[in-house]
Amino acid sequence: MAGTLSLVGIPFDLNSSFLRGPANAPPLIREALPCDAGNSFNESGRDLSAGIIHDAGDLQLAETAGEAFQAIEKNIDDLLGKGRPVISLGGDHSITYPIIRAFSRKFPGLTVLHFDAHPDLYDELQGNRLSHACPFARIMEETLIGRLVQVGIRTMNRHQREQARRFGVEVIEMKNLSAMADLRLSAPLYLSFDMDALDPAFAPGVSHWEPGGMSVREAISFIQGIRVPLVGADIVEFNPERDSSGRTATVCAKLLKEIAELMLR
Ligand code: MN
Ligand code: MN
Repeated sequence: MAGTLSLVGIPFDLNSSFLRGPANAPPLIREALPCDAGNSFNESGRDLSAGIIHDAGDLQLAETAGEAFQAIEKNIDDLLGKGRPVISLGGDHSITYPIIRAFSRKFPGLTVLHFDAHPDLYDELQGNRLSHACPFARIMEETLIGRLVQVGIRTMNRHQREQARRFGVEVIEMKNLSAMADLRLSAPLYLSFDMDALDPAFAPGVSHWEPGGMSVREAISFIQGIRVPLVGADIVEFNPERDSSGRTATVCAKLLKEIAELMLR
């Protein structure tokens, strides 16, 4: 299966704490990839049209988080069984927990590189332990991965700083972004990209605007600098309700093309 990858849409936003909307994201990202305004090549010169991306479509999910999570985990399991890297389009960030449950069985000792304005390490939020503010607390509690590296963080509070220390999370806060250059990443590697890692000036289509984020160029340069092949990735938290210009959909598609390169090399 060299040179191909699986793509799946996960239209789920029941665990969002503030606004709904990310469930409508997957078709809009597909539409922007490629669209009349751009072509299907990434910056490495690879043509991502015809035959490279095996699109499994969007999952049909139940309206309860428990059932939906079981279905997400099972579907990712099945896709991994096909032997290709898998990229998932969210959905809110809560979906990364069932996705990683599936990955952890196939890839013990996985490193997860997590782009986000938020650490998503809450023990619970609004009484919901499956909230999109909690996935990495669940992942670390269950020891599903070997290493968690977070970049772009700019909303640390006392509770989440304690959680990060307790779980041994490596946090590169936005104010220390240059430290990204020194990361020693090793295989197997998974990338989880929350769109609010970017500054809202570049990607307004997110539920939680957090100023002071990275530029699209900074994110892409970092992605292009990764030397380890990716076994999987997700792009989450794109909220079309906040994207009146359609700009954020094109940013998602652009990131998808650059992330895909790391799966195809
Ligand atoms: Mn997040
Ligand atoms: Mn976030």
